[in-house]
Amino acid sequence: MKTMTCRQLGGPCDLAHTGETADDVINAQDKHLRQAVKAGDAAHEPAREDMKGRWRHPKKSLGWYRDMKKAFAELPEG
Ligand SMILES: [Zn+2]
Repeated sequence: MKTMTCRQLGGPCDLAHTGETADDVINAQDKHLRQAVKAGDAAHEPAREDMKGRWRHPKKSLGWYRDMKKAFAELPEG
């Protein structure tokens, strides 16, 4: 298991997401952004919009996914 924070995934806080794969933490971040914005947290809105844009334009967003997967791969296990 590895951990990436909201901030490492483009968000504004230090909440940690743990997962076996980069997709796990990206999905956890997506959920976290959705919940934060729903709860009225304006600080998470830009990151939420970015994430929504990524689902809408997956080809344009490949670079971001590649960066996140690379960052995840380089994290120490634990
Ligand atoms: Zn956050």
